[in-house]
Amino acid sequence: MNRIVDNILKIRREIEARNPSCEIVAATKTRTLAEIIAAMDTGLIAAAGENRAQELVAKFTPDYSWDFIGRLQSNKIKYLVGRTRLIHSVDSLSLVDKIDRLSKNKGIVTDVLIEINTGREEAKGGILTEEAYDFLEKASAYRNVRVSGLMAVAQKTDDFTVTEQAYNAVRRVFDDLKSDSVRYLSMGMSDDYKIALDCGANIIRPGRIIFGERVYDCKNERGEDNPSDLV
Ligand SMILES: *Cc1c(COP(=O)(O)O)cnc(C)c1O
Repeated sequence: MNRIVDNILKIRREIEARNPSCEIVAATKTRTLAEIIAAMDTGLIAAAGENRAQELVAKFTPDYSWDFIGRLQSNKIKYLVGRTRLIHSVDSLSLVDKIDRLSKNKGIVTDVLIEINTGREEAKGGILTEEAYDFLEKASAYRNVRVSGLMAVAQKTDDFTVTEQAYNAVRRVFDDLKSDSVRYLSMGMSDDYKIALDCGANIIRPGRIIFGERVYDCKNERGEDNPSDLV
């Protein structure tokens, strides 16, 4: 567990050097609650970010903040509303509509980020950069959902300039849309968080560089999370 603390301190130092106002959401898929608690108790992690509604419900404790960062399925939203600080991966108005209805029932407002698909990859979630303006306008009509920013997952590549271009494109949209409520820019995982920091991310989502390599791999052959693993 000391290793987890050391890893977080290392990331934090990198943040201080590059982009001090950035916060860390620890990507906690497949990690045990004990590992998550070790990370959260450093006081340096803004939230634990889960990919699966099932895992979030199983690990949930109100002592810590929980974000949802995985592919969002309409029938799983009921497990998330009321438990999350932020849902990072909203990419359709029908999801916004459902989150709004469930939030209204609970008398709460749910904070969400709009996921941007930077690589124009068909298989991945997210809307295109140019769709974000209209999406925000339409989503703003819902009283029990608050759009709090943008989120992006970069496509897998060894070419650092491709990642940098993608993150800069999201950053430009963020700069256009930024407001008192639209304030989070969630970009960057273990392999590319330094690029994301330099491109203006104010939330990064590292997993492996905090907790070590995965215990098991629940991605399908295309590298996507396997929806059959969900609740
Ligand atoms: C798994 C995951 C991360 C963290 O990935 P690492 O490579 O372990 O840092 C970040 N964001 C999302 C959406 C993820 O699914």
